[in-house]
Amino acid sequence: MEIIDGKALSEKIKDDIKLEVDTLRDDYKQVPHLAAVLVGDNPASKAYVRNKVRSCEKVGFESTLIQKDSTITEEELLDIVRDLNENDDVDGFIVQLPLPKHIDEHKITLAIDPEKDVDGFHPVNFGKMTQGLDSFLPATPLGILKMLESYKIETEGKNCVVVGRSNIVGTPMSILLSRKAYPGNATVTITHSRTRDLRAILKTADIVIAAIGIPNFISGDMLKEGCVVIDVGINRVDDETRLKGYRLVGDVEFDSAKEVASYITPVPGGVGPMTVTALLLNTLKSTKKKLNLTE
Ligand code: NAD
Repeated sequence: MEIIDGKALSEKIKDDIKLEVDTLRDDYKQVPHLAAVLVGDNPASKAYVRNKVRSCEKVGFESTLIQKDSTITEEELLDIVRDLNENDDVDGFIVQLPLPKHIDEHKITLAIDPEKDVDGFHPVNFGKMTQGLDSFLPATPLGILKMLESYKIETEGKNCVVVGRSNIVGTPMSILLSRKAYPGNATVTITHSRTRDLRAILKTADIVIAAIGIPNFISGDMLKEGCVVIDVGINRVDDETRLKGYRLVGDVEFDSAKEVASYITPVPGGVGPMTVTALLLNTLKSTKKKLNLTE
């Protein structure tokens, strides 16, 4: 069994990004600029955004954090999005989800200029992805593709079971793994809360992508010998022995799954850091596109 070290891989990719940023600064007097909009004080969202801003600094990007109280109106937030769309200094931006209930997330996503939508959530980017056209891929699935690629994990003809059908992870992941490319060409089954006999379906899986949001939901006895396990879940569980009073666990029970799997991602240190790095890759791509430097 090999652990897929998302933390180490993301550091390596960030080193490569930094080199490209140095070249852009030297040759074009420009560095990528990512802006993040954070609404309210959800602790997980705050931690994610902090992480994204810190990663920008690490690779030499410019970053802007726009923080707003949860009382902000939908129209005020739309104004911020429009300003960012029009700001030529900003190459890409994200509006951290979830948003307060009185704000329509779809409306906000639709208002983002697809050319700056580095989260890859806008239907224009989603549609392009579905048709195999060049686009910003959603950050978490892009990070997972990079992991599969880097560990040279064969996907062609493999049975892949994606658990969870969210727009940001499960659904795009299932599309990307079934496309005619590497990583891809897999036979994909997408499962969800209404799936019957998930256990039997999982037993057929050469590759499992778990994006459910239920701690330790999938245990080793549900998996096929030698399968590849990609655990997207980030769940807080109470832990009195930790200073913070909690620890993070995935959707897969790591200790039992690692006895069965050929490759497995840990939580933390697996998909999480790769998601942030994928966001940086998309922002770099946006800057290069602006400078007509895309391959
Ligand atoms: P979501 O809540 O939008 O969707 C959860 C999915 O799980 C749904 O499609 C639902 O049908 C499915 N599901 C629920 N119960 C199920 C069951 N009993 N059997 C099968 N499927 C079931 O989730 P999301 O936004 O995709 O996030 C999933 C998890 O991944 C969460 O823990 C989230 O924190 C984490 N996440 C991590 C990253 C990262 O960077 N590592 C990024 C995004 C999300």
